[in-house]
Amino acid sequence: DSQTLHWQALSRDHHLPPFTDYKALNAKGTRIITKASGVYLWDSEGHKILDAMAGLWCVNLGYGREELVEAATRQMRELPYYNLFFQTAHPPAVALAKAIADIAPAGMNHVFFTGSGSEANDTVLRMVRHYWAIKGQPAKKVVIGRWNGYHGSTIAGASLGGMKAMHEQGDGPIPGIEHIDQPYWFGEGGDMSPEEFGVRIADQLEQKILEVGEDKVAAFIAEPIQGAGGVIIPPESYWPRVKEILARYDILFIADEVICGFGRTGEWFGSDYYGLEPDLMPIAKGLTSGYIPMGGVVVRDEVVHTLNEGGEFYHGFTYSGHPVAAAVALENIRILREEKIVERVKTKTAPYLQSRWQELLEHPLVGEARGVGLLGALELVKNKKTRERFADPGVGMLCREHCFRNGLVMRAVGDTMIISPPLVISEEQIDELVGKVRLCLDATAKDALG
Ligand code: PLP
Repeated sequence: DSQTLHWQALSRDHHLPPFTDYKALNAKGTRIITKASGVYLWDSEGHKILDAMAGLWCVNLGYGREELVEAATRQMRELPYYNLFFQTAHPPAVALAKAIADIAPAGMNHVFFTGSGSEANDTVLRMVRHYWAIKGQPAKKVVIGRWNGYHGSTIAGASLGGMKAMHEQGDGPIPGIEHIDQPYWFGEGGDMSPEEFGVRIADQLEQKILEVGEDKVAAFIAEPIQGAGGVIIPPESYWPRVKEILARYDILFIADEVICGFGRTGEWFGSDYYGLEPDLMPIAKGLTSGYIPMGGVVVRDEVVHTLNEGGEFYHGFTYSGHPVAAAVALENIRILREEKIVERVKTKTAPYLQSRWQELLEHPLVGEARGVGLLGALELVKNKKTRERFADPGVGMLCREHCFRNGLVMRAVGDTMIISPPLVISEEQIDELVGKVRLCLDATAKDALG
């Protein structure tokens, strides 16, 4: 319709959207999303769409929570902005720091606020190098990340991440960053059992530490479950082995909780789910349910003690701890706690979603159906027995298009289809989601298998 064409034309003529093929921008394909409620979006043509990605893995409370709107409005009237530089505080920021400390793993009682997850990861990179310099070991600078990990789009975030396409643009990664393989058994495990593969991949961390030199490695950074890389759920043997290795060497562990945090796995943090004991946790997304930008780094007490000895940390953002964002985050956490949403994910919603998700394994296109909490992935294959993939271009994009046409947002990472719905999704809505996925798989199979 004419409204849609209007917005599409403005987008084409004036907007450079993120992660978008600029060659294809002239096409009329730009989706215009105009409103949302609960787990649903509406586009400019009035189509109702089930948002199985919670935006970008962030709208944990679902759309349209009036309490968050009110919290923002109240705070804007009271104190719309003030900075936290030069030993300043305001009530929302410090109340939020305390609220996060209350739900964070034991011994993590301080928060440095940022405006996004990328800024949180820039912050951890500077912070861990600063930490080792204070300790008299300025040579400990190297941070080890993982191939296919995602830690943001700033130059530090893209470098810590392991997306090769991102490294190729913008001349990354910056010096002092190394990568090891991801624990992606389905794609890269070959003939190994998942457990054997998990140990093999974890051992790469030790090999890399020895190769670089323990006296040069500052930290290891990883998402408890790789999200944007394709919901890579590590074999059970992986994290215990990594923990063993981390305990053996004097390096810091950064658990990037930007996706896994705030209930996604059925625990407050992915680190709780796997029993990890990180030194630093970048957070964002679910912190405010995406209603307003905010991120941060939760820091272990021992690290804070060292930072204290270092005097001024020359680091901060105009919007660090922004009062309106902090007020929204506080209200978001209050609702998550009072409505026991994280517990409900663990005891009801996740078991239900995961059991229904497993049913999709019967489909001829699905080689693996995996998930934890409210994260799920389907591996689309040409041959279920051999795990053989479709030749390039794969079927993931095709499936994603069928999803849009059928009123479902699902993400494709190559031929891995992934979901991360709002935590408040009901069982009835999960039935709708799984039903739609099946429909889209059928349509994709028709195209791909004939
Ligand atoms: N870390 C992880 C694990 C993420 O998934 C993301 C975003 O998807 C980021 C960091 C970057 O966060 P932001 O997009 O808020 O900068």
